[in-house]
Amino acid sequence: MHTLTMSRSLLEYYDSCLLRHGDTASGAAWPDDAGRLLRFKVGLELMQQLAGGQAFTVCDLGCGTGEFYRYLQENCPDTVSYIGVDRSAIAIAHARAKFPEALFHCADILDLSQDALQMIDCDMVFANGLFTVKHDATHAEMWRFLTDMLETAWPRARRGVIFNVMSTIVDWERDDLFHVSYDALAQFLVGLAGRTTGFRADYGLYEIMAYAGKPVPAAMQCAPGATRLATVQRPDACGTVPVCKPLLPTTQALLPYLARIDGQRRYSNHGALVVELTERMASTIGAGAHSVCLASSGTAGLTGSVLALAGRATPDRPLALCPAYTFVATALAVELAGYQPYLVDVDPHSWALEPHMLRLHPQLHRTGLVVVAAPFGQAFSQQAWADFSRQHRIPVVIDAAASFENVSAAPGAHAGDVPVVLSLHATKSFSTAEGGAVMCTDADFQRRLYGALNFGFSGARSCSLAGMNGKMSEYHAAVGLAEHDCWPGKQAAFHRVAAAYRHFARQYGLEDRLVTTPRLASCYALFVARGKAEAIDVNDALFRAGVDTRNWYGAGLQHEPYFRASPADPLPNAGHLAACTIGLPMAPDMTRAQVDRVMSAICAAIRTIA
Ligand SMILES: *Cc1c(COP(=O)(O)O)cnc(C)c1O
Repeated sequence: MHTLTMSRSLLEYYDSCLLRHGDTASGAAWPDDAGRLLRFKVGLELMQQLAGGQAFTVCDLGCGTGEFYRYLQENCPDTVSYIGVDRSAIAIAHARAKFPEALFHCADILDLSQDALQMIDCDMVFANGLFTVKHDATHAEMWRFLTDMLETAWPRARRGVIFNVMSTIVDWERDDLFHVSYDALAQFLVGLAGRTTGFRADYGLYEIMAYAGKPVPAAMQCAPGATRLATVQRPDACGTVPVCKPLLPTTQALLPYLARIDGQRRYSNHGALVVELTERMASTIGAGAHSVCLASSGTAGLTGSVLALAGRATPDRPLALCPAYTFVATALAVELAGYQPYLVDVDPHSWALEPHMLRLHPQLHRTGLVVVAAPFGQAFSQQAWADFSRQHRIPVVIDAAASFENVSAAPGAHAGDVPVVLSLHATKSFSTAEGGAVMCTDADFQRRLYGALNFGFSGARSCSLAGMNGKMSEYHAAVGLAEHDCWPGKQAAFHRVAAAYRHFARQYGLEDRLVTTPRLASCYALFVARGKAEAIDVNDALFRAGVDTRNWYGAGLQHEPYFRASPADPLPNAGHLAACTIGLPMAPDMTRAQVDRVMSAICAAIRTIA
């Protein structure tokens, strides 16, 4: 048997133990917990000896479900950094679920390139139980496996390797275990490490803990990327698929624009770059340049729009009707303008507040403002809201934060007298890192908005209306211009990932549960669960598969501590949508394999439930 083939057959054996016995000592093919803890203890003593009492990084090769990490955490959390590596995706999923802060790689090191092997760079490699079970391999095959693994790991370990094997000095050798003689082991280790090798067989088990060390260098460092046991952060380098991984223009793409700023020495206050970005965005979204105003963020654009359109709240109309199913910024922005958000439910199909739902609303006579959201960058009807606003004489602002693409897809159709606010935040498809844009064809509104976002100044430096500083800087405009240069490519990349999502969804029979572009902005992919219980199972399965998810709108505004006391209608649709809509990973450079990992995990979870 080739070593890799054998390694896979052993993997199947370990996976079957784990599936049969669960995450226990037996599940890791150990007879009992006491023996396992004893091996951890002896292993740690040898590591501390090789480390000369200093802090060190250990690579736990064949880490299984990460129990050695637990042991380290309980016994020396401040002096050891940890990297876990195992070939078993099932074991790694368990490990990551138990210790989300720790670094676990799912990999067979015999299968990795030299570059990829850097991920196990450490002070000590600890292979506990990796070479004890032979299963159906021959002794010679197992010996090859041991020597291949240790020769691969040796150059990555700054201080040495530690591993255990069954001894030949026993009453009887078990056919399924790998018993190795001291002599054979000594010969191999001396060939690897010279004379700094040793054995411990004094801990009461029929086995040997062997080690081979390297001379102690003057300065010892941790492997970059290793997790300090005391810190809590699972870097995405360990194979987790992040829910959102923005990709903005590179330094190279920014340079020409930054050079223009250097030349002009104008850094904000509607400089040339902001003017140019305004023109370019206006033409992309099909509005005149005078119909678009850039802002420092989507939220600033929202508050500015409310101030410019409706002014601050008045005592007889203190309320702003606001859908409960939206990002918190929608309600925060109107609250900053003095309005009391009054939460209303959304349509179960469009996920948005629709004008007909408010026609007979009992609070209309106390309402100074309606703020509408276009969830996840969906399209919306400018006309219907303009009609509503005219008929009820109530100002309306549309928070279409993520709708840049849907607005661009039908140039002109979304522009009108009702202000439409876009966010250009890094998490949105088209981005200036932080930024916003307000589209409105009413010239009078635009003049007031310009003032509202610039200290309430109108014309001269005289503050004549409620305002704030919500201007976009030239630096953010530089990002926006470079983003605009690259936009067709970026959008195409998003579309390829969305197509991969739809492909795998079809393959797994889940196409009716996946929502992507063109309905949504291309920076979103959503899975819609049938109910709360299914959503919990799917989230759990994704977590175990190393896939991050996000509930973009939380549980609905009614559950945010700050808005919990807000007056509200019954909110059954918002509550259901918030509980069942799962934000899946999306990035322009997400691979097909990652998309498959997401969809197959969902499929497995749903099949288990069914
Ligand atoms: C992103 C977003 C915002 C906030 O935009 P910022 O640019 O981050 O201030 C507001 N509302 C919705 C619906 C959003 O998705």
